[in-house]
Amino acid sequence: MPKSLSLLAQCDLANRSGTGCAWCGDELPKRRRTWCSDRCATAFWTNHWWTLARRAARRRDKYRCKRCGHKPVGRAHPSYRKLRKTDRLEVNHVQQALGDHRRLSCKHHLQNLETLCLDCHKSVTRSQR
Ligand SMILES: [Zn+2]
Ligand SMILES: [Zn+2]
Ligand SMILES: [Zn+2]
Repeated sequence: MPKSLSLLAQCDLANRSGTGCAWCGDELPKRRRTWCSDRCATAFWTNHWWTLARRAARRRDKYRCKRCGHKPVGRAHPSYRKLRKTDRLEVNHVQQALGDHRRLSCKHHLQNLETLCLDCHKSVTRSQR
């Protein structure tokens, strides 16, 4: 069984009935084995693969810090290059991911992610310890 499928067996977001699309449960078109459509495949990856999940979380949070509402300066800003080291957004796992960043994991579900500015991320990480 491919790794993604063993993960699906425990995933709260997936269709675990054993029939139909492994994401939405719709009937599978001919020649499709796991997902009914590319959309469902993408939804799966977006919620389980860190690089994609992180990007999706930022987009969902409208590129603002979820706690304080801070929005870093954009590329067009004259001091962007100087500021981006300290003035940027990071994505935090509400339930900590620990070593799972490089793995497919249900910890990367979008509902477990929040976009934070550096300051908020620091204070959240401190309180998570
Ligand atoms: Zn589907
Ligand atoms: Zn903040
Ligand atoms: Zn999952």
